[in-house]
Amino acid sequence: MVSHRIMVLLAAVAGLTLSTSLPVSAAGEVNIYSYRQPFLIKPFLDEFTKESGIKVNVVFVDSGLVKKLESEGQNTVADGILTVDISRLKEVADAGLLQPVKSAVIEKNIPAYLRDPDGLWFGLTKRVRVIAASKERVKPGTVKTYEDLADPKLKGKICTRPGSHVYNRGLVASMVAAHGEAKAEAWAKGLVANLARKPQGNDRDQVKAVKEGVCDVALINNYYFGLMKFNKDKPEQQGWADSVYLIFPNQDNRGTQVNISGAGMTKHAKNKENMKKLLEFLSGDFAQRKYAADNYEYPANPKLGMDEELASWGKFKSDEVSLKKIADLSPTAQKIIDRAGW
Ligand code: FE
Repeated sequence: MVSHRIMVLLAAVAGLTLSTSLPVSAAGEVNIYSYRQPFLIKPFLDEFTKESGIKVNVVFVDSGLVKKLESEGQNTVADGILTVDISRLKEVADAGLLQPVKSAVIEKNIPAYLRDPDGLWFGLTKRVRVIAASKERVKPGTVKTYEDLADPKLKGKICTRPGSHVYNRGLVASMVAAHGEAKAEAWAKGLVANLARKPQGNDRDQVKAVKEGVCDVALINNYYFGLMKFNKDKPEQQGWADSVYLIFPNQDNRGTQVNISGAGMTKHAKNKENMKKLLEFLSGDFAQRKYAADNYEYPANPKLGMDEELASWGKFKSDEVSLKKIADLSPTAQKIIDRAGW
């Protein structure tokens, strides 16, 4: 314990010395707009500054990132964005607000399916859509796939948030990628026919409903399990998490559906070299491990393996369909969701 503290202290001193003795050309600043909360990104941004001498200024944006960048135009201070969900990255990319980054470092660290083929955005962490099932009422092995959610054996047993939420839209897009539009629509209708109640609330509310016996299975993003299990402010959520186990669907075929948190360089970036360095750092081992583990997500870099806590929820195979394809299919997915009345 003591030796660990000393090491941290030494590292801090070394970092300080390093950053003050760096040549001017290596120093400077980089400015990012972030949807992600301060506590999540500060630890690895501080490490980046320590290693590179580049100061990172963060503006937290909780909505309207596209509007903000559009209205600022060329005068924006933002060199890059950090956000969650492929659909949000797509919005910014489609609005022409990002520019391509070509980096051998990133291409080595991040698998091709998790980044834009043109280098407009990069997945940094993986978050997967899983099925939370009642420990009491769902025998392991009875639900194994997303396709099972449309099976009449689950009639009246499923809870989800509204279909149009980006998390469900991504899942439907992955069903279109796997089965085509007609089959994906039949699936969505089958799932809606199995719902225990009208879609409502967020992912955590569905687990609460399982705990309360309203339904037996729920669709959630994996990290909510951790956010509930260790929730000190709302201890009742620990009980919700404790009432379920996680099913990682489709292990015998294409794998579990993947979404990402990601980043990209803005079209009007002024500190391009520094932003590129930051993106490369974010794809590296230190940031990958820390960023993922702190929010119960998985590193995008497959060679890093899982955090111990997350591994205890289940190891799984990922659906490696390209996120670019998921983004492109999301308008089709939304139409299916509308027609299914999800
Ligand atoms: Fe979320």
